[in-house]
Amino acid sequence: MLIVEYHRIARKEARWDRSIEAFRRDLERLHRLGFRPVTLSEYLENRMDLPPGASPVVFTFDDSHLSQIRFLADGTLDPECALGIWSEFAKEHPDFPVRATFFILPPTPWGQPRQVAAKFRLLRDLGCEVGSHTYSHANLRRLRAADAESELRRSSDWIAREFGERPTAVALPYGLAPKDPELLGRCGFRAALLVGAGPAPSPENPKLDPFRLPRIQAIDGEFGLAYWLDRIEAGEVRPYVAP
Ligand SMILES: [Zn+2]
Repeated sequence: MLIVEYHRIARKEARWDRSIEAFRRDLERLHRLGFRPVTLSEYLENRMDLPPGASPVVFTFDDSHLSQIRFLADGTLDPECALGIWSEFAKEHPDFPVRATFFILPPTPWGQPRQVAAKFRLLRDLGCEVGSHTYSHANLRRLRAADAESELRRSSDWIAREFGERPTAVALPYGLAPKDPELLGRCGFRAALLVGAGPAPSPENPKLDPFRLPRIQAIDGEFGLAYWLDRIEAGEVRPYVAP
């Protein structure tokens, strides 16, 4: 089960940047290998709408960088932002619709403060999800309990108010959980995502711990997306396949 992690989409590839070209290649390769996108909730609740033989992939985007969702001056979606690239791809491949989970930072996710509401509307229309990435990209491990709780609750309240749905998942900044293991649940979260670096358990695996979900970074280097897709293509790693 792959949960892929993106940050910025850029002209050139870098440690935290996926190039426009590489992002297109990721979509093509995942599609060709039989993967189909599902949201994080669909995976966790094991209610993925997949044709028999298909494998699920969860796309996650952290940090709500402008390159993920950018509107041009005329109000249209920039064809070179992540959502624009994927929308174009989905037109040619209707079996690979835009379906992602965005872990955002209030109060102006994706820059462009006047267009936040329109971006949320677009995500809702597409069936995408919004999750918490704390309020100010906090290192929860280092904060006192009360401060960590405030980071989580403020972010959750803001998303509930502006997006219209309370988030159930948090992508932990730096992959670091708060010292108190009960805090996430107390703040209303049912799942937490780490930063690296391998496949996640299948939704039917009893060992699945929703508060420690590993992700695969969308990079070409070791233990990145290309590495795991090479292993899968070579038959060395078997992804979950829908019955
Ligand atoms: Zn982050």
